[in-house]
Amino acid sequence: ATPVSIMVGSGRAAQMGVLFRSGAALEGLGAAQVVAVDKTGTVTQGRPEVTEVIVDGGWLKGDGELLRLTAAAEASSEHPLARAIERAALGEEKTDNAQSLPSSINRQPSTINLRAADFQAIPGYGVQANVEGKRVEVGAARYMHKLGLNLGELEAQADALAKRGRTPVFIAVDGQLAGLLGVADPVRVGSVDAIRTLQEQGTEVAMITGDTRATAEAVAAEVGVSRVLAEVLPEGKSDAVQELQAGGRKVAFVGDGINDAPALARADVGVAIGTGTDVAVETADVILMSGDLRGVPNAIALSRATLRNIR
Ligand code: ADP
Ligand code: MG
Repeated sequence: ATPVSIMVGSGRAAQMGVLFRSGAALEGLGAAQVVAVDKTGTVTQGRPEVTEVIVDGGWLKGDGELLRLTAAAEASSEHPLARAIERAALGEEKTDNAQSLPSSINRQPSTINLRAADFQAIPGYGVQANVEGKRVEVGAARYMHKLGLNLGELEAQADALAKRGRTPVFIAVDGQLAGLLGVADPVRVGSVDAIRTLQEQGTEVAMITGDTRATAEAVAAEVGVSRVLAEVLPEGKSDAVQELQAGGRKVAFVGDGINDAPALARADVGVAIGTGTDVAVETADVILMSGDLRGVPNAIALSRATLRNIR
């Protein structure tokens, strides 16, 4: 493309809230045959809420105590699930006000009132910590399996939650399964429209996520995506992009998280959600200033128009 058409195209894109880092990115996006999207925080709002608390093991004093133990174990975690659990333990998850508070204010040890030590995050699996002398492990089913724990009756309940698009979060206390949380992360306004438009433009859409397959498929069905790469470990996201590049296909990847940076770098065109983490934004070739996924098909249309103009 000529420098002038690139400048005009970039200017139009900026007016619709899409920033191209380079002329090559503006030219490359329209050529993408596959658009791969991260789930949490990209297709969904990334602002999860605890919607179900299932308590196993009679010795815990009901949901409240289980939630407080879990929140204490998650206090040092950066994961969006940790913030959801904390808000639930503080009884704040339904108030918009609490969600807009900085996380440092949300973390009120005086309210949760349990001390955690020896915190450890296992990316893609969960967290563990010692809370008031109890060993608390929180995370995905595969984390419980890794710990050698049998999910027992909670397995069927977790499957039922996952089929409704919930992320199941298991809790083990002192090496015994103690409960299960269902966490909902609503789909962003614009995701359904964006995916339909991409498909109408002739682009294949795929979703890549670390979440459970059943949860991922429920969300994918909600937004009309049929190709799902689920249970991808953080370091596996760029391999997943590479898999989609098989046969020389051009792949654009859209993501928001720290975990997404290698996949953004690996993709032919990396697209970051502007409200996402700094690392994602810095790694991307294209930035969507608003979190609206409709920016992607809009930018693709613009990229193709820019290329047509100069031929
Ligand atoms: P994604 O951002 O695509 O959901 P992650 O790799 O961050 O993927 O996490 C994958 C899965 O590991 C999560 O869906 C969750 O089940 C589990 N997990 C990771 N971190 C935590 C945490 N701090 N608390 C509970 N579960 C976690
Ligand atoms: Mg994400």
